Order: sequence, then C-alpha cells, then structure tokens
Amino acid sequence: LADSGASPLPAPSSSPTDSRWSDTNTFAVKKKLLAWYQLSNGDWSLGKILSSSGGESLISLLEDKVLRVNSEELLPANPDILDGVDDLMQLSYLNEPSVLYNLQYRYSQDMIYTKAGPVLVAVNPFKHVLLYGNDFIEAYRRKSVDSPHVYAIADTAMREMIRDEVNQSIIISGESGAGKTETAKIAMQYLASLGGGSGIEYEILQTNPILEAFGNAKTARNDNSSRFSRVVQCAEGERSYHIFYQLCAGASLALREKLNLRAADEYKYLRQSSCFSIAGVNDAERFHLVVEAMNVVHISKEDQHNVFAMLAAVLWLGNITFTVIDNENHVEVVQDEGVNTVAKLIGCDVGQLKLALSTRKMRVGNDNIVQKLTLSQAIDTRDALAKSLYASLFEWLVEQINKSLEVGKRRTGRSISILDIYGFESFDKNSFEQFCINYANERLQQHFNRHLFKLEQEEYIQDGIDWAKVDFEDNQDCLNLFEKKPLGLLSLLDEESTFPNGTDLTFANKLKQHLNSNSCFRGERGKSFGVNHYAGEVVYDTTGFLEKNRDLLHMDSIQLLASCKCQLPQIFASKMLSQSDKPLGLSHRSSVVDSQKLSVATKFKGQLFQLMQRLESTTPHFIRCIKPNNFQLPGTYEQQLVLQQLRCCGVLEVVRISRSGFPTRMSHQKFARRYGFLLESVSSQDPLSVSVAILHQFNILPEMYQVGYTKLFFRTGQIGVLEDTRNRTL
Ligand code: ADP
Ligand code: MG
Repeated sequence: LADSGASPLPAPSSSPTDSRWSDTNTFAVKKKLLAWYQLSNGDWSLGKILSSSGGESLISLLEDKVLRVNSEELLPANPDILDGVDDLMQLSYLNEPSVLYNLQYRYSQDMIYTKAGPVLVAVNPFKHVLLYGNDFIEAYRRKSVDSPHVYAIADTAMREMIRDEVNQSIIISGESGAGKTETAKIAMQYLASLGGGSGIEYEILQTNPILEAFGNAKTARNDNSSRFSRVVQCAEGERSYHIFYQLCAGASLALREKLNLRAADEYKYLRQSSCFSIAGVNDAERFHLVVEAMNVVHISKEDQHNVFAMLAAVLWLGNITFTVIDNENHVEVVQDEGVNTVAKLIGCDVGQLKLALSTRKMRVGNDNIVQKLTLSQAIDTRDALAKSLYASLFEWLVEQINKSLEVGKRRTGRSISILDIYGFESFDKNSFEQFCINYANERLQQHFNRHLFKLEQEEYIQDGIDWAKVDFEDNQDCLNLFEKKPLGLLSLLDEESTFPNGTDLTFANKLKQHLNSNSCFRGERGKSFGVNHYAGEVVYDTTGFLEKNRDLLHMDSIQLLASCKCQLPQIFASKMLSQSDKPLGLSHRSSVVDSQKLSVATKFKGQLFQLMQRLESTTPHFIRCIKPNNFQLPGTYEQQLVLQQLRCCGVLEVVRISRSGFPTRMSHQKFARRYGFLLESVSSQDPLSVSVAILHQFNILPEMYQVGYTKLFFRTGQIGVLEDTRNRTL
C-alpha cells in the first residue's frame, strides 16, 4: 500500500478551503484583472482594473466609465475563456456576480440549462427553444451530447435505477411560474421515449393533460399554474380550474342536456373574476384532448360521465341562493333550478340537500337538536361542500389513473418518481397557505441538505477520508419550531382551532407566549408573527388561520353525500369518514355523530411525512427552476430576482461543497468488478489491490481520488474515462 501512493488512512488534504470560494474575501487586486463592481441599483458591472494603490482602485466599467473605488468592494471576475461554462463548478472564482453572469451569458444564447455540481439549474426561457424533440432525445440516449439538460438528468436516473437497483426521484423546485411543471413534462417525455413511444410510458404521459385540466388554473403569475382550492373564490384576472371552462365549452349536446350544463359565464363561481379565456387557448379543443387522454388511461365512459356530473354539481352548487326567514338572519334554501339540479346530479333528495345547507344537527348533553344556520354560515357550508366535492373528485381521479395504469402490477419493482412541488413563497402578506407551503419547503430543504451535505460528510468521516469540514445551514431548529409537541406552531394552531372561543388573535398571543425564546420565531405586533426560514424571514398574518385550519365540511354534509344514490358521492363520504379521528362505519350515517375531524395542518403534515418517507428511499436528482422575470417575458433577465432565487435554493453552497469534495464513490469490490477486466496484467484478486492497479493504469492523479476503508472517492469527472473505456470494450 505504501508503494501504491494511495493511503487507506486519512491523507493530508490538498486545498479544501480556498479563499476564492468566499464572497467576502478580497482578492489581490492587480492591474489588468477583471473585477465586479456593484452599482447603486444592486446590479453588478464588469470592469477592468486600471491601477490600484493604497486600498483604492481605478476601474474601467462598460461604456468607458472610469471609477475610483474602494478595492475591498471589488470581487474577482473570471477570465473570458470561462464565459458560459456549462458547470458552475468550472468557474475559477465562485462569487454571486460570477454565477449570475454565467447563467445570463448562457441564457442569452438559449442555453437555459446549467449544472451547479450535482444540481441542474433551469432558467425559464418563456419561449420555444430548440432543445427538445426526438433528435435531442436520441442524442442524449446515445450520449453523443453532454451539455446539461433535463434529458441528461432523466437519463442518469434511468441508468442509476438499473445499475444500482434503487428507486430514483427527480425533485423539481422553484417559484410559481419558474417552469417546474414544464420541466417535469420534459423529463417524462424522455422516459416515455425509452419505452418506444407506446405502452405504459405513453399512458403515463397521457395523464398530464388530465392532471393539468383538473389541477391547474390561470393565475396572475402563470397561465397554467398548478393550484389547489380555488373552486369557490377567484381573484380578478385569474380563472378556476381549466376543466370547468373546458367542460362548458366542449361538452356534446347530449352531455349538456344530461348535466343541464350552461355557458361558463352563467355560473357564479366562474363569474366572479370576469376572466373566462386564456390567450391562445381553445377550451373546447382542450376538452376533447382531455377526453382522449382519459380513454388512453382506461377511464371508462361511465366513470367519465360521473366525473363530469360532479363538475356540473360543483358549478350548480355555486348558484344556490338563500332567503332570510327571520330577524336572526336564519335562512332557507331558495327552491330553484340550482338546488334541483345539484340534487339530481349527486343523486340525493332535494329536501335533504336543503336541510344540509341550512341547518346543523348538534348534540347538547343527551339531546339531539337542530340549529338553523345564518346566511353567512349557510354560504360557508355550501362553499365547503363544493370545495370538498372537487377535492375528493381530484383525489379519486388520481387513484383511478394509478389503478388503471396497473401501477404495482406491471411494475418491474423499480420506479422513478418525479416531484413537481411549489417553492418557497414570501409575499407582502403571507397567510395559512404560505405557512403550509413554506413548512413543506423547509422539509424538502432538509432532505436536500441531508443528501448533499450531511450524508456526504458523514460518509467521508466514516470511511476515513480527510474532509475539511464545510459548514452548511442546518434547518432542524426551524423544523422543530413547526413540529414540536406540545409547544410548536402546528400543535398550538390545532389546540387553538378546537377551542370554541379561540380566535386568530388568541392564537397569535399564544405563540408569542410560548415560542418567544425560540431563535427561529419572532413575535410581531398584533396578529402577526415571523419565522426565520432557511430562505429568509417571513412574516405571517394569522387572519383566517383558525378557520382555514378547521376542516369546514360539517358532518351533516358528509352524511348527505353518504345518502346519495350516485356512486361517487358515496365513495367520497366513506373516504372522509375514514379520515376522521374516530373512524365511523357508514352504518352510523343516519345518527347524529360528533366525530373530531383532522385539522388541515395535521393532514398536511401527515401527507408531507408520507412524501418524505417515499423520497428517503430513493436516489434523488435535483432540478432548480429559476424565473428570470415576473412578466412571463422572453429575453429578460433580472439579476436581483435571479440572485434571490439562487440564494433561496442554496445553489452557490452546493457548488462550493461539491467542488471541494469527492462526489463520486464506489466500493472497492464494485470498482474492481466493474473495471478489473480492463487491467493489462493481474497480480492479485484482492479488490483493493485490483482497484489501485486500475487507478495506476489509467493515470488517475493522486489528488483526484482518495482511498477509504471501504470505498474509493473521486473528484467530479474522474470516472468518465473509465466508463468510456469500459463501454468501448464491452
Ligand atoms: P411552474 O410549474 O413552476 O409554476 P410552469 O412549468 O407552469 O411553471 O411554467 C410556466 C410557463 O413558463 C409555461 O406555461 C411556459 O410558457 C413557460 N416555460 C416553462 N418552461 C419552459 C421551457 N422549458 N420552454 C419554454 N417555455 C417554458
Ligand atoms: Mg406548476
């Protein structure tokens, strides 16, 4: 071993910490060097240093502007030869302006993909770019191109799934409108093409139009935004889910008659935003595509009809109105086309429907009493029913698709999961939705950290590799703030939501009372509080928190659904009952029940944990989508906006760590087995000796690898030569 030049014991490390990584370190400012200077608007300008002395430099910026500046304010710029490198790891100087410039340089030439070490960065082009289609797919399959691409990520996932026999995941994150869903589709296209354009891969691809029709809507930030819960309200200029407009525009005459369907502008739920169409989109045409896709994924005609009936029921629910019948503001449902149609569509008794929308059964002591609802209570009840019908329908549809694709039966046992998930959100006003979204992102960030940093570091240490420790942000404290019991944000929210006298203000006060000592928490004035997220501080306004957290759908409504003659409402009801705290059989449905339903936040946490568990068992591949401007415009790159997103997703940190580490690793056994046959002369069968012999034969430089107790560790790019030779030889 001593002769081999590689030691299995910790070896002195070459140069793990390099001042060039750091943004704050000044560099040796010298004449003729290129440097970055920050302008007053925050943008960085490239310049050439003309002279430097006594802590001051003369720098010539673009347009022949010459400035005298403090040398400490300058950051080193990379030589021209590194302009537009396809992996940020290759930059000699890794500071924020250099990264921003590199991405912008590439973006201006339609090279929207760039590697940041193991992570793919995708900058949304907001226009058609010539990077997709069969020729490109073929090129990536054959590996005749190696520029960064979603196709390359999908290809790696596929290869690693086969090679390691481990499930894979492609985790796509970014802000709304950054391009996550498009990227997910591009990855799916690649995987589908491997199946030869037919079979299950094609069917999976066809689930996209369905999921988009039911799950996406036009918002201010994205014409095709993946959304949830916008059935009953909709902001000006935005739309509800695409499928409503598609159904109204595209349904056949026969279907229209059966569902008593009208034009979109005759439904109150759709009318509130006065936006019915999307530029360049034909809803009727889209409807036919959705039906076509449903056929492909084997959703029966009968089920399709049932789905459309539920959609019509949701729309007609919104048209149900009430009249006030006494001076306590109690109401009755107006007997009109709206209520009659809903009853017909879901298959219930009109009288029962009217009761469910205008009264509530309660248990007081041992007595069952019936309480009349006020106008606002009745409206809330109606809207809650509409929302939960839609949510149940969506969930059911996804289940059907999964079933009909026979996921589980036809599977070979291995899978690639693609996760398209909303990114971190911070607005002027942040409510319960942002609270949940950011909590989820905090968990995902931990997954990302763990994978890229922690596991890596632990593995080096375990295997006796010298690894100058690199600090990284651990967000466990912030997760504790959310999850700790009984004194965490989620627990306190649930507790306050069950108190009859709890209000948003008492909730906010309770947080301040119990959490003020937590470093991730900050009490704000009034009903607000701040959380120190990994991506920055967010101030939440608790207005509406309790109401949004309580699942508004009352037992009376669930019982109504259970009593329906139609199949879908019955399925929805039994699912809702099985999700409540005390599972109740449907036999209880006619009696008054006081079951405690799970809060929205608790359900959300449960789903998040399931997701994390699933991800933990996979090899992850990360794609970070970046939105270069807020106007959905091509060719517009706003430095500050991009920078803020790069910081949020830790891109710089990743590059820094990957470059200073040994990201590629393989056990001695595996390495010997994989490349041993390439050896010109074999002197030993021992995996370690074989491995070392291979390293020598291929002239892999000693600073490019380390030999651990059980594994070999390589710097990026080192194994490529071996793989190429192996593939040529095989
Ligand atoms: P997100 O899911 O992150 O909210 P989307 O994936 O829906 O964002 O993308 C928003 C819009 O940006 C798309 O409708 C499309 O117009 C554009 N877009 C995103 N990615 C690409 C791409 N690779 N090529 C062309 N346009 C894109
Ligand atoms: Mg989306």
